[in-house]
Amino acid sequence: MTIYLDNHSTTRIDPRVLDAMMPWLTEDYGNAGSVTHELGRRAREAVDHARSQMALAIGAEPREVIFTSGATESINLAIIGSAMRPGRANGHLMVGTTDHQAVLDVADHLGRNGRQVTYVDVAPQGTACPGAIDPQMFSDLLQSDTFLVSLLLANNEIGVIHPTAVIANVVCKSGAIVHLDCSQAIGRMPVDVDALGADLASFSGHKFHGPKGVGALYVRRRSKAVRIEPLQYGGGQERGLRSGTLNVAAIVGMGAAAELAVQELAEEVPRVEALRNWLWEHLNNSIEGVSLNGPPLTNSSLRLINNLNVSVSGVDGGSLLATVEASGLAISSGSACASASPRPSHVLRAIGLNDDAARSSLRFGLSRFTTKEDCEKAVERIVDGIKKIRS
Ligand code: PLP
Repeated sequence: MTIYLDNHSTTRIDPRVLDAMMPWLTEDYGNAGSVTHELGRRAREAVDHARSQMALAIGAEPREVIFTSGATESINLAIIGSAMRPGRANGHLMVGTTDHQAVLDVADHLGRNGRQVTYVDVAPQGTACPGAIDPQMFSDLLQSDTFLVSLLLANNEIGVIHPTAVIANVVCKSGAIVHLDCSQAIGRMPVDVDALGADLASFSGHKFHGPKGVGALYVRRRSKAVRIEPLQYGGGQERGLRSGTLNVAAIVGMGAAAELAVQELAEEVPRVEALRNWLWEHLNNSIEGVSLNGPPLTNSSLRLINNLNVSVSGVDGGSLLATVEASGLAISSGSACASASPRPSHVLRAIGLNDDAARSSLRFGLSRFTTKEDCEKAVERIVDGIKKIRS
C-alpha cells in the first residue's frame, strides 16, 4: 500500500465528508437556485449550512463567503476582480516572490496589462526565519497608488507562515486591500480572517480532506465593504460574484471538511507536529548530507506543523523520487519537474539555494491520516533509495 506524504499537493477525502456529500450526488439532486420546489429548497439549505460551517471555521459571517471551484479561481477573482474596479487601470499591486503560481501568473498577467507589480523578496536561508517577508521592507515598498497586496499565509513548499497581521496593519492604513492565500492553512493552524488582517482570502477544499474542485473566497463586508468585479457573468449566483449553478455536493463536502478541521485542530496539531519532527530527526540521523530548507521546526508560529522540506547533497531529487515511488512512497520535490528538464523550485531559489541544492530537495506534507508507521516506512525507503543512488 502506498504511503502518502504529499498532503501539500492534495489530501485524502475524509470518509465522514464523503458520507455528508453522498445524498447530494444521488437522491438530493436539486438545483440550489430552484426555490420553487422542495428538492431545490433542500439544496439551497444545504449550501447555506455549508456556508455557515465555512464562515465559522475562518471567523467570518456567512454572507462573506463566496463558493468557487478552488483556490486558483478564488485568487483570480480576488486579484483581477480588485484590479478591474474603476480607477485601478494603472494601479500598483504587490505579491511575494514565493507565492503560489496561481498568484504569480495573475500578477504577471496584470503587469502585462498596464498595472505596476512589485514582487517582494523573502529572507534567505541562514536567517532566523528563511522564507518570511519582512514587514518593514514590505511597508517601504508600498506606494500611494497601491490598491492590493497579496500574501501567502503559509507556503506550500517550505511551510513558512508570514506575519500577515503585522503587514496587513500597515497596508490597511494606506487604504490598500489585503488578499491572503490561505490554501494550506485550514486544519494546520488557526485561521481567523480578522486576526490575520484579511480583506479577501482564498481557500481550497481539497487541502483539508474535502473534495477537489471546490473553494471559497472570503470577501469582507463588516467594518469595510470590499468591492470586486466578477470575472464571469450569468445567473447571478453567489451575490453576482460567481455566476454558475452551484456544485452542491462539493460545497457540502467543503463545509463538512472545514467543520471537522476546526473540531480536530487542537488534537491534531501536536500529533502531526510530533510525527513531522520524528521524521526530520530520523532522516537527519540516518542520511549523510541532509539539510533543512525553510524555517526552524521548533516554532509552530513560523512553520506549518505538517511541513518538512530537505535537500540531500549530491542526490538528484528527481531520481530519488522515482526510486522511492517504486518502493511505494508518494512524496514530491520542491522542484516543478517539466518532464525532461526539471526546473528548480522558485521558492527554494528565492531563499538562496543554488540549482543543485534546489534540485536535490524533497517535500513532505503530513495529514490527519499519517501514522507513525508511515513515517518509519518512509525513512526506511528513502534511506534505501539514497544508498542505491549513491552506490
Ligand atoms: N495556493 C496554494 C498555496 C496552493 O498550495 C494551491 C494548490 O496547490 C493553490 C493555491 C491552488 O489551489 P486549487 O488546487 O484549489 O486551485
